Amino acid sequence: MPRAGFVLLGVIAVAGWLAVIGFSLDPYPWFRPWTMTWELGACFALGALARTLAFRVFRAVRIALDSAFYVAVTFIWGAVPAAWLIVLIITADAAFRVLRGTTGATSGKRRLWLSLLELTQTGSLPALVLLLLSAAFGIDEAQPYTDRELIVWVPIFSLAFLVVHYFLAGGAHWFQGARSARLFRGFFFRVVVAELTLVPLSLAMVLDYLHHGMFFFLLLGCTALLFNWIFRRAVITSEKLDERASELATINNVGRILSSSLERRTLIMNIASETVRLVGSASRFVLGVYDARHENIVVDVFLRGEALAVERRAQGGRARVEPVQRGIVPRGHGLTGWVMQNRRPLLLSNVPEVGASYVTDPAELPPCASWLGVPLIIYDEVFGVMAVESDAAYAYTADHLRTLMIIADHAAVALENARLYELATVDGLTGLYVRRYFDQRLNEEWRRVTRYGQEFAIGILDLDHFKKLNDTYGHQAGDQVLRGAATVLRDNMRGADIAGRYGGEEFAFILPRTTIAEAKHMAERIRGDIEAMRVVVNGERLHVTCSIGVAGYPECGAADGVALLAFADQALYDAKSQGRNRVVAAPHTELVPPRGVSTEERLRAEAVTQEIVKPAHRAR
Ligand code: GH3
Ligand code: MG
Ligand code: MG
Repeated sequence: MPRAGFVLLGVIAVAGWLAVIGFSLDPYPWFRPWTMTWELGACFALGALARTLAFRVFRAVRIALDSAFYVAVTFIWGAVPAAWLIVLIITADAAFRVLRGTTGATSGKRRLWLSLLELTQTGSLPALVLLLLSAAFGIDEAQPYTDRELIVWVPIFSLAFLVVHYFLAGGAHWFQGARSARLFRGFFFRVVVAELTLVPLSLAMVLDYLHHGMFFFLLLGCTALLFNWIFRRAVITSEKLDERASELATINNVGRILSSSLERRTLIMNIASETVRLVGSASRFVLGVYDARHENIVVDVFLRGEALAVERRAQGGRARVEPVQRGIVPRGHGLTGWVMQNRRPLLLSNVPEVGASYVTDPAELPPCASWLGVPLIIYDEVFGVMAVESDAAYAYTADHLRTLMIIADHAAVALENARLYELATVDGLTGLYVRRYFDQRLNEEWRRVTRYGQEFAIGILDLDHFKKLNDTYGHQAGDQVLRGAATVLRDNMRGADIAGRYGGEEFAFILPRTTIAEAKHMAERIRGDIEAMRVVVNGERLHVTCSIGVAGYPECGAADGVALLAFADQALYDAKSQGRNRVVAAPHTELVPPRGVSTEERLRAEAVTQEIVKPAHRAR
C-alpha cells in the first residue's frame, strides 16, 4: 500500500473517533444533546445482535440489519448516540474477525499496523459519515417530524448514508491495492441495493417508537431479528449445499480423469495436471512412492503448472512429460517421510522457518516456501505421498488441503490399478509386454490399420543357439543375457511401437505406420545392437546373436493379425535356416484383394492366403 493510503486511513480512523467523542462533550450547534438511557442500551444490544447475524445476499455482499437500527436511532435519539452505536459495534465486530483470523494473515510489523489502522477505520468511517450527513441534512434538529416528513426523509437519508459510506469504504480498499474498478462497481451497486431493503424497517421502527413507545420498538426489532436468524440459517445451509455440490463435482471430475488411463506414466501426468489445476498453477506437483525393496522413497518433482500445460500441448497432448527432478529419500526422512510415517497431511506455509522441525537434516527440505502433502493409502497401507509446493509463502489453505485429499483418495486407487495392470501385462524378467497383451494390441492395430487403410509391420526375434548358452553358463546367466537383449529391443522402440516377450527367448514387435522396407532396416539395427551387446556374468563377457523375421501389411497379403504373425514366423525360420544372425523379410504376396471387390472374391482370396500360411507353421 502506498504511503498516502496509510495516511488517509490514519486520518479517517482518528477523525471519526475524535468527532464522536467531541460531539458527545459539546453537541451544539448541529446535534441534539443526549444522555445515556436504558433505551439506548437496548438499541446497542439489538444492533450488536444484528451484526453477529450478518449473512450473505449476493456473492461477496453480506448484509446485517444493524444499519436499519442506526438510522432509526438517528431519527429518534439523535446522530451522536447513533454514531456511538456504530463505532462500538462495528469496531468490536472487526476486532473479533481479526482475532478469529478470518481477515488476512498478520505477520510482520507493517501488517500489524495495517490491521490496527483498518480496525479503527472500519468503525470510525461510517460514524463520521453519519455525523456529517445528518448535520448537512439538518436531520438532527430538535423539532419533531411529522409522519409524512419521516416517510420522505428516512429513505433519502438512508440512501445518502449508504452511498457515501460504501463509496468511501471502496476508496479505502482501493488504496490497499485491492480490486479492479469494475469489481468495485459491481460490489458497490449490489451492496447499496441490498442495504436499501432495510429502509422500511428503519421507518417502521421510528414510527413505532413515536406512536407506541419503546415496547413496540423492541417488539418490532426483535421480530426482525428473529426473521434475520431464520434467513441466516437458510443461507448458511444453502452455502453448505453449494460447497458440497462443488466438492462432489470435483470428486466426479477427478474420478473420471484418473480412471481414463491405466498406463502409469499417463496416469501420473493426469494426476499432476489435475492437481495443479485445482490448487493453483504456480504450484509444482510432487509424487513420492515408497520402494519396499530398497526401503526408500523415490520423489519425483514435476514442472510448474503453467510450464506443464505448455509442455503437454507441445507434445500434442500426449502425456510424455518426465519429472524434472528425481530424488531418493531414505524411509522416514524429508517431508514426504514425515507424512508417510505419521499417516497425516502436512501443510507448511513457511518452509524455511518451520520446516526444520519436520526433517532429520535441514538439507532434506525442499527449496520452496509453501508445501502441502497428503499420504497415499491403499488397503490401509501408506505407499506414498502426493504433494504440491510453491515458491510463494502462505500459498495453501485448508480448502487446498481438502481438495488434495480428495484427489489423493482417487489417485491411490488409480495408481494401485495401474500397478496391478502392469503386473498383468508386463513380463517380470524382461519388462516387455506379455504375449496375451501383445496379441490383443496386434488385433487392435490390425483393425485400426485395415479400417483406415494404413500400413504397419511386425517382427519376431529369436536368440540364436540360446540353449547352448544356457547349458554352458547356466540359466542365471541366460536370464541376464535375455534381459540385456530385451533392453536393446526396448531402446530401439519409438513412442507408438510395442514390444512383447513372445516365448522363452523369443520377442515380437509391432511397428505402426511402417513399411516392410523400413521395418527391415530397423530390425537390422536391432540385430546389430544385440550382436554388439556384452553381458558380464561372473567376470565372463557373454554375447549372443539373434535372427529376425519381419512381415508387413499390406505387402504380405495376410488376412488377419495371426496370419501376418505367421508370415513373420516363416521369415524367422528362413533366417535361421540361412545361417542365423540375420534379418529376413517375408516376401510380397499379390493375394491381397483390392478394395471394393465382392465378398465372394475376398473370401476366396483369404482362403488361398490361409493355405499359404498353414504349412508354414513349423514345430520348434
Ligand atoms: P536356435 O538358434 O535354433 O533358436 O537355437 P536355440 O537353442 O535358441 O533353440 P530354441 O529357440 O528352441 O531354444 C529355446 C531355449 O531357450 C530353451 C531354453 O533353454 C531357453 N529359454 C527359454 N526361456 C528361457 C528363460 O526364461 N531363461 C533362460 N535362461 N533360458 C530360457
Ligand atoms: Mg533360439
Ligand atoms: Mg526359441
